[in-house]
Amino acid sequence: MNEKFDIYADSSANLTEKMIADCGIKVISYECTCDGKKVICYSGRPFSDDARDFYGAMSRGAEVSTSLISSQRFYDAAEQSLKNGRDALIITISAQVSGTHKQACLAAEQLEKDYPGRRVYVFDSANSGFGEGLLAVQAARLKNMGESAEVCFKQLEISRFRLNSYFTVADLKYLKKGGRIAILTFHSLEDRIVKNAFRFLETDCVCPKELPVCVCGKKREIEIITKKPVVAGPQERVINSRSRSAKLRIAQKIV
Ligand SMILES: [Zn+2]
Repeated sequence: MNEKFDIYADSSANLTEKMIADCGIKVISYECTCDGKKVICYSGRPFSDDARDFYGAMSRGAEVSTSLISSQRFYDAAEQSLKNGRDALIITISAQVSGTHKQACLAAEQLEKDYPGRRVYVFDSANSGFGEGLLAVQAARLKNMGESAEVCFKQLEISRFRLNSYFTVADLKYLKKGGRIAILTFHSLEDRIVKNAFRFLETDCVCPKELPVCVCGKKREIEIITKKPVVAGPQERVINSRSRSAKLRIAQKIV
């Protein structure tokens, strides 16, 4: 039996418009501030435009913060389903990184009280970003196959710890003092780029030598841990031929 329910995901799931439309997922938006200005994801513009502006500002050094989604906003969103006699499955960002999950749970508790007989499932994705998004898409696929909200929930529980999320950032701003960056390359030209970038980041001043005083104000950000790159040992070179060209350089953030 295909029980009637709707799937919600918070906007940390980074779903594209096409996925939202194809899967019929309802997105509950985070509110962010970017240099003091309020920004709402999924404001009605294509998400890719919002994302480009937001991450673009971040990489230009803007101060950004995200506030959690309040239980009231979860309540207001999911209530639409309950009013129409449908249940709700809400997929949230990991409870480990955000209080948003707890807010969704509070909303669910209240909704189930206010709409006796209806169910509101809140699923902790244990992920953020597209890891969460993929779980929402999986739930939608199962729903389209006729599975109940309960079955979707159980399947997601199996899937969530099979996902690994990897993030790439273009600068060291978000690396904590004492945190390390390790870069493995497989080509000498790539290794040279890493070597030069590390050397630049380890340098205090880049003013021309003729200048009597520093005007650039550049401060070193890292300490290079590997003066020479780490390479594969003789044993590994034998059993793994691709390791022969691999070079690993490591540095530590000092500010
Ligand atoms: Zn200088």
